Amino acid sequence: MSASVANQIITPATTEPGHNLTTSVQQIDARHHLHPFTDTAALNRRGARVMVRGEGVYLWDSEGNKILDGMAGLWCVNLGYGRRELIDAAKTQLEELPYYNNFFQTTTAPAAVLAQEIASVTPGDLNHIFFANSGSEAVDTLMRMIRHYWTLEGQPQKTLLISRDNAYHGSTIGGTSLGGMTPMHRQGGPFLPDIEHIRQPYWYGEGDGLSEAEFGLKAAAALEERILQLGPERVAAFVGEPIQGAGGVIMPPAGYWQEIQRICRKYDILLAADEVICGFGRTGSWFGSQTLGIEPDLMSMAKGLSSGYMPISAVAVGDRVASSLIEKGGEFYHGFTYSGHPVAAAVAIANIRTMKQEKIVEYVADDIGPYFQQRLRQILAEHPLVGHIEGIGLIAGIALVKDRARRTFFAETGAAGQICRDHCFENNLIMRAVGDRMVLSPPLIISRDEVDELCQKVRTCFDLTLKSVREQGL
Ligand SMILES: *Cc1c(COP(=O)(O)O)cnc(C)c1O
Repeated sequence: MSASVANQIITPATTEPGHNLTTSVQQIDARHHLHPFTDTAALNRRGARVMVRGEGVYLWDSEGNKILDGMAGLWCVNLGYGRRELIDAAKTQLEELPYYNNFFQTTTAPAAVLAQEIASVTPGDLNHIFFANSGSEAVDTLMRMIRHYWTLEGQPQKTLLISRDNAYHGSTIGGTSLGGMTPMHRQGGPFLPDIEHIRQPYWYGEGDGLSEAEFGLKAAAALEERILQLGPERVAAFVGEPIQGAGGVIMPPAGYWQEIQRICRKYDILLAADEVICGFGRTGSWFGSQTLGIEPDLMSMAKGLSSGYMPISAVAVGDRVASSLIEKGGEFYHGFTYSGHPVAAAVAIANIRTMKQEKIVEYVADDIGPYFQQRLRQILAEHPLVGHIEGIGLIAGIALVKDRARRTFFAETGAAGQICRDHCFENNLIMRAVGDRMVLSPPLIISRDEVDELCQKVRTCFDLTLKSVREQGL
């Protein structure tokens, strides 16, 4: 076990007598660190797990536990931990030019070349790239760009953005407003006006007794109804994740996106895909839009772009919007100090080139993706807790239910999921709970043996969860 960096920064001055590395970090953390999406008081009582090292699909904590990362960090460490190509790219760029910006008539080779590399893998005419640092910033960029576009086109009244319930688009004010997460909407508002939400295409949970195909059309029809209510002349764009990720990995029924796209075209409404999770091979194509047959006008991307090694995100803009921005727009008063940061860009270039060299997208599409989906179903589909498994490539959502035959959900949503997540934690498996849906998104370089290990570990944790759920009478 190596914890060399932690040992270097936890100096005698920061360590109180009688504490080891783990308790020292936990103590400092509890005193000063406000964690994202965390009940800080509850965490401080328990003490955070201290991660110290990673290699491939495994992580090690400060207690020497080897942990299988079924989430690729937060859906982002697509090439796995410890990749030399990415580490060397960062080191080289840091030594040569650690920072320069892309404002004021300046560029750097990494920013320019990364834009070219992204354009080489985006579908259609999505060939112009705007850089930011996080998914949320990419989404905010997309929102401003879409509204600005319509103003340039002489239709400044087209400001309404339509998204979906249970969509996740980040946690800035823009991303929170656009997203459809009710608990988030209860905190820190008021949020932005001119944002509308329609129902999500969650067939297993909200399918109204329809076939999947029928429900897909019904969920898409909600878009047309809303557009007509609002007036098409006021609607700027529909924005959606090809597959909802943080909402619990919701696979839309076949035909849903085709219908959404038809409706957008009919009323001349832009279509934007939030590819922050689906992008960069997750679903077996470079982008989820390709897997699901979407031809978006704009795409936001982030997580897989650098495999999470550096914070970087981007918006890919198609010809329609890009030519308007470039030819009619003059200066677009938007950007970030670190837009196209050279070190992050150098890492992202190495990430995309390594993905191409190792044919990672093909591996997910033809080999490990189908294998993962098949093994999940073989090992888990008959489990008494499992209602439904959905996903494609290396992303999956599993609905935990009270009674699988009757499709009865647990009365108190989230309790079973929480119990399951705690068993995973205890058993050195990282799997996330979204309510009572368990989600998986392992690194794309996972091997067949590691997929087997992952599915067996999930099964063990489901067995333990079933026992706990019965003991607690849930
Ligand atoms: C994670 C995520 C975001 C936000 O990305 P951050 O880097 O956390 O700001 C936005 N959209 C989608 C679809 C995401 O999954």
